[in-house]
Amino acid sequence: MVFDMDGTLLDGRTIYVLAKKLGFEERLHKIISSDLQKCEKTVEIAKLLSGLSVACFLDVFDEIPLQTGAQKVIVAARKAGMMTVIATDSYQLAANRLAKRLGIDRAFANELEFKAGKITGRIKLNNDRLEPRMAGCKVHSVCKRDILHKLCDELGIAPAESVAVGNAPNDKCMIEDAGLGVAFEAPAELNEVADLILDDDLSKMLDHLRE
Ligand SMILES: [Zn+2]
Repeated sequence: MVFDMDGTLLDGRTIYVLAKKLGFEERLHKIISSDLQKCEKTVEIAKLLSGLSVACFLDVFDEIPLQTGAQKVIVAARKAGMMTVIATDSYQLAANRLAKRLGIDRAFANELEFKAGKITGRIKLNNDRLEPRMAGCKVHSVCKRDILHKLCDELGIAPAESVAVGNAPNDKCMIEDAGLGVAFEAPAELNEVADLILDDDLSKMLDHLRE
């Protein structure tokens, strides 16, 4: 069972919360509204965090509330013997922290570099096939479809037996391929490819898991 993080498990977006708290909203907005490719934006945005201590990053991150039903879904999934996973184009540091908080098995994200407790501003993107001038999965800094398939291979299960949950266009590739693709508070383009559309409580998906 693969979950997106920002906006799906968390009721907020990590980088926006950090920007607001630390006062770089304007610079963040400038990068986001530029015409760079998404993965290039990820590299530029990481530079905004240069010099920030990991402790401070995690303090701010820990304040982001969980989405309604998030904890309940994870507990139920684990009880049912399913592997639980975070796949996010946010930072490994953050994904690991949330995984620990929720009891999630694995986390895949972009590797934000830090040295001696401080973030350097450099980032290693988590996609071997990255080609910024292409389209589709090749521009995903973290390709969630690749992660889903890799995990299914590892577990020896078919993608049809997997579940993927997300709220944004970069979740589309994994939601298309998962057996149960869940769109949570998502835009129309994601709802179109989802098997289940949810608008408030994540734990409502549990009824559909039993089928
Ligand atoms: Zn992809």
